[in-house]
Amino acid sequence: MSNTMNSPVFPSQDAIDQLEAFHESLPDYGAEALEIIKKLHRDGAPATVAQTGGRYFGFVNGGIVPAALATKWLTDTWDQNAAMYVMSPVASVLEEICEQWLVDLLGLPDNSAAGFVSGSSLATLCGLAAGRNTLLQRLNYDVASRGLFGAPEIRVVLSEQAHSTVFKALSLLGLGTERLIKVPADEEGRILIHSIPKLDERTLLILQAGNVSSGAFDDFTSICEMARKAGTWVHIDGAFGLWAAASEPLKHLTKGIELADSWSVDAHKTLNAPYDNGIVLCRHRKALGQALSMSASYLEYSQQRDGMKYTPDASQRARAVDLWATLKSLGKQGVSELVEDLHQKALYFSRSLEQNGFIINNKVCFNQVLVSMEDENLTKKTLELVQNSGECWCGGATWKGKSVIRISVSSYRTDYKDIDRSVAAFVQAKEVAVNTP
Ligand SMILES: *Cc1c(COP(=O)(O)O)cnc(C)c1O
Repeated sequence: MSNTMNSPVFPSQDAIDQLEAFHESLPDYGAEALEIIKKLHRDGAPATVAQTGGRYFGFVNGGIVPAALATKWLTDTWDQNAAMYVMSPVASVLEEICEQWLVDLLGLPDNSAAGFVSGSSLATLCGLAAGRNTLLQRLNYDVASRGLFGAPEIRVVLSEQAHSTVFKALSLLGLGTERLIKVPADEEGRILIHSIPKLDERTLLILQAGNVSSGAFDDFTSICEMARKAGTWVHIDGAFGLWAAASEPLKHLTKGIELADSWSVDAHKTLNAPYDNGIVLCRHRKALGQALSMSASYLEYSQQRDGMKYTPDASQRARAVDLWATLKSLGKQGVSELVEDLHQKALYFSRSLEQNGFIINNKVCFNQVLVSMEDENLTKKTLELVQNSGECWCGGATWKGKSVIRISVSSYRTDYKDIDRSVAAFVQAKEVAVNTP
């Protein structure tokens, strides 16, 4: 692992300045492989962020379990194109297996389809494309061929706290951002069920398993039951939170998700798989396939699984192999414990900070902790000092109009000593912040 106990979690300014060594125009002649690797190690490695260690709490980034890391090296040497069965039988078979395992692990309806994509941004785009197309199909309108020109109008209902990538996906799908019906959220960031407008069969409803700031989960059972009766398509953005469904002690948080139509989730966050690993899941296999289909004279789809039928890409990395290795190395029990462990550590982190005079702004139901101090400037100053300390790294966010420090415990590498050391860094930063004008 690149980070040792004592290398800073965020690179020093010197290390960043050293990146200057990469600025050159493309040389006329190529360099030796060994020279390239040495250069990267010398000039690039010091400017990496130590997120494979235990004290990185920024965004919701996750770590990387050893078996998956080694598998990724191996699959990179295989250099498989997972677009079609004929390009890589092994990728195709492992996609099928991951699909079954995930449906089972997350408790989704039998025969739901999975598409293996780069991340939740794309997974959400795919799920919403399937939803948009299906709603319009039910109105006898084929948007895939006719486009949105003159299409019957559909409505999009979502929480005002939906993730920014959901808004981006809607905008890419021609649904814009201005005419969406944005429903207010409660104090924990859950969509306010009584503020959801009357649902109907022309509505796409987007819910959230894991609010990106507070980690809160929407009330899926009540809302999805309403939606099903009305013929509304429900997509759940569960980028990091959907994994609660795979954890015995936490699965109450995701109760009712199986009533939705499509889901997006990242393996590269909570599950600690390598990057470039998101999944779209869809109850309606055909709808997902139709939304993402394409044809060309040289493409001969097989009876076997062709990955590109479930993704926007044609050529693609065999990412299901890493996912398979991650799941295989953890097992059901291991996934359950991994997720519960992140939750327990987030609780421990929040209690320690509270005991040291910090304010915790959310109910820590999952792995996210929102921290502040009585004064907004102190919060900002403390965050900056924590970031510069190299001891740990957290990002900032705005919560209910106020600046907060956002902690995400999402790496399996984080242990209780890492948290103690990070709390000490917070305490020290606070002292300095309080004592400097
Ligand atoms: C991270 C995240 C996304 C986007 O996922 P990417 O894998 O970064 O594309 C979407 N929604 C939520 C809630 C997230 O946390």
